[in-house]
Amino acid sequence: MGGATGVLGAELVSSHEPEATYAASRHTSVVPLHWLYFGYCDVCGLWNTLRHYLEGASGTPVVSSQPPSLDSQGGVSVLAILTYHSLDLSGSVLSVAPQQFAEHMAHLAHLGLQGMALREAVAHRNAHGTWPERGVVLTFDDGYANCYEAALPVLRQHGFTATVFLVSGHMGGYNDWEPPLERLGTQPMLNWEQVAALAKAGLEVGAHTVTHRELQRLTAAEVQSEIRTARDDIAKRLGMPVESFAYPFGSTSPQVCELVQREFRIACTTVLKRAATEPLHRLPRIDMYYIRSLPRLERLLTGRLDRYLAIRRWGRAVRRVLKGDA
Ligand SMILES: [Zn+2]
Repeated sequence: MGGATGVLGAELVSSHEPEATYAASRHTSVVPLHWLYFGYCDVCGLWNTLRHYLEGASGTPVVSSQPPSLDSQGGVSVLAILTYHSLDLSGSVLSVAPQQFAEHMAHLAHLGLQGMALREAVAHRNAHGTWPERGVVLTFDDGYANCYEAALPVLRQHGFTATVFLVSGHMGGYNDWEPPLERLGTQPMLNWEQVAALAKAGLEVGAHTVTHRELQRLTAAEVQSEIRTARDDIAKRLGMPVESFAYPFGSTSPQVCELVQREFRIACTTVLKRAATEPLHRLPRIDMYYIRSLPRLERLLTGRLDRYLAIRRWGRAVRRVLKGDA
């Protein structure tokens, strides 16, 4: 937790979170967030201890050389679907450093795991009734140009694939669908030639709407336009079907989900947990904002981070209620 703040509430409902809660932070709060601020270093220390327990860490974390067991959680097949956004050095909540990403991928390979696209994991589940035992799904939201420049060479090196979700109305442009995010700033997006190269390399290309608006706040007609236009534009450009979708900001509702289900086989939320038996149109994902170190990545893959993720989900839910978004 940030040493300068020393607040428990701030850690649980931090505004410095990735896209899922970033959307909520842009609306007026119904309860002042400072009500949750405690401001005592003792509390900070208590939280660090609690977090240590929740993360399943004991002593100095040591990265195991043994492959983790991925295939059971109380007998249920589970799958980690990882979410990356931009690979850059800004340190923003949507950013992972290219070198760190390379280390993540090298560690997955070291553990004998296969980075794969969402459609491949779903095809396995449809065929066998379980998620792939040694698979980890890699997803990239928004379609930053650095996905081509920094991610593709690393994925190729390990023989991994991934799914990239595009904001079709910003192809070849910038992430200017809203004011520049703190630290991230304005970033160039993939152009169609780069996307074609990603598809040729075996990556799946999915849709993330045309303009990256919060679907929950749109009319049904607007939602349909956002998702159909994005899907059709991408399919036409690439000459292949678009099967997967990611909800911008994780914003969804039963109505939005139903509309998406009519147009796509698969859809991803930003609910922070490993996928198990969720419907294919509400697949949860792990935002890599929370999983940057290799020991934490390994705890995620072995299920030892589940309590921590549950607390994070609770923090997000509290924050949405406070912001009037629930
Ligand atoms: Zn997005």
